[in-house]
Amino acid sequence: MSNSAFDFDFEALCQKKGLKMTDQRRIVAQVLLGAQGHPDVEEVYAMASKLDAKVSLATVYRTVRILEDAGIIQKHSFGDGRARYEAVSDDHHDHLIDIDTREVIEFYNPKLEALKQEIAAKYGYTLIDHRLDLYGRRKKHTDPEC
Ligand SMILES: [Zn+2]
Repeated sequence: MSNSAFDFDFEALCQKKGLKMTDQRRIVAQVLLGAQGHPDVEEVYAMASKLDAKVSLATVYRTVRILEDAGIIQKHSFGDGRARYEAVSDDHHDHLIDIDTREVIEFYNPKLEALKQEIAAKYGYTLIDHRLDLYGRRKKHTDPEC
């Protein structure tokens, strides 16, 4: 899910890290925050270099690091060994990953959210953060006539 986008000061963030905000970094940040789904670094690189041929893979990695450290994007690993990124937003969701196609379905279930709170409380905790990734294989359509 995409964030309402550039509502933070990316330039200030770069400065804090002792980095200059270049056009290339800005483009990578815009791609990351505007992306649908959960792109990995290669996908972000492909999208960003279409917008500016001067974007390098190193710039993508560095910008990902800046935004991740600042809590603006979060990293996911959906079991295929590739880090994927998503803008952090207020509307929480969980993920269902198709292990054959790597399609990622986002879902929200209020009963599940209540259950997470309940489990944390049972062990004497206040829930601060949580994530749930389900892995599945699409059921084959089975026709009893065949
Ligand atoms: Zn997601």
